[in-house]
Amino acid sequence: MTAKGNATDLMHFISKQMRMSHIYQPVMIKTLLQSGGEATTEEIATSLLAYDQSQVEYYTLRTKTMVGKVLTNNGVVEPIKDGRQITGYRLTEATHTDAQRAALQAMCDKAIDEHIRKRGGAIWGHRGPDSGYVSGSIRYNVLKRAKHRCELCGGHEDQVALHVDHIIPRSKGGPDDISNFQTLCITCNTNKRDTDDTDFRSILDSYSDRGTDCIFCEIGAGRIIADNELCIAIKDAFPVTEHHTLVIPKRHVADYFDLYQPERNAIETMLHEQRQAIIEQDNTVTGFNVGFNAGASAGQTVFHVHVHLIPRRDGDVVDPKGGVRGVIPSKQRY
Ligand code: AMP
Ligand code: ZN
Repeated sequence: MTAKGNATDLMHFISKQMRMSHIYQPVMIKTLLQSGGEATTEEIATSLLAYDQSQVEYYTLRTKTMVGKVLTNNGVVEPIKDGRQITGYRLTEATHTDAQRAALQAMCDKAIDEHIRKRGGAIWGHRGPDSGYVSGSIRYNVLKRAKHRCELCGGHEDQVALHVDHIIPRSKGGPDDISNFQTLCITCNTNKRDTDDTDFRSILDSYSDRGTDCIFCEIGAGRIIADNELCIAIKDAFPVTEHHTLVIPKRHVADYFDLYQPERNAIETMLHEQRQAIIEQDNTVTGFNVGFNAGASAGQTVFHVHVHLIPRRDGDVVDPKGGVRGVIPSKQRY
């Protein structure tokens, strides 16, 4: 291989030859340039890590749920908030002299060094190979199988950081075979208890379940006014009011309470979109009734979940008070 390290060659390589399947090459070149042409593999890995959003998200969550809480409870820091969201932390007192700051930083360094010396690599054990390290090729194949979505909440990797994890943990004898892996987003993974070996993979396949002899499974494409990955919207054939819309999951499932979280998310998004569309089309609409009938006793007639979005207008009935309480007409008023 002929050397191509001079500036002209490098410029040519970066602009014309570099075939990127990831950001690794430019990050590595940049790191080498910044450190005088040479860097250890660890330094290069550290640079790559700085770009890994999934790691940043992981430690953001750890900051908020662990260290941030502990230091707040000890009166050392206080959270900076935007509404209810924690966006940062500040020391409860920051009026230190330069000398004090230097001394405090040195004390932190000493505490870090001592801890590492005592515990060694074990402090990162929860991130290390023994507790579920996943090789690149397994990770790639498991993500592909999950269509790059969390197998519990359906979040896509463009929106959430995804983790590929053992279903039955290694500590319980779970194998490193691809069948023992699943993809979960950082939130679902963190909320999942360590003892929880639930296999969520089948959920993804079931999204394509369709019923036989079900009018909502067989709705013609021409009737669909909007769709997203998991649900559709149609106009109700017997509208209670003009623009009465039904939002229906694509999966054939009878009861609202059997929906998976991603379907609820998809329905929620579509309800917002449909509400907006109705308001934009019809300025007489002043309110909505939104709801579902779950079970025959509650009035359900089509046993494929659907959420009614019923536009309401001032004066459409003499006295609308009580709204959905009207399912038992004598109890509508209270
Ligand atoms: P539910 O009583 O909550 O099960 O509601 C069923 C809803 O589906 C009713 O509002 C009907 O008007 C509506 N509906 C029934 N058949 C069709 C159909 N073929 N296309 C659209 N809406 C329908
Ligand atoms: Zn159906």
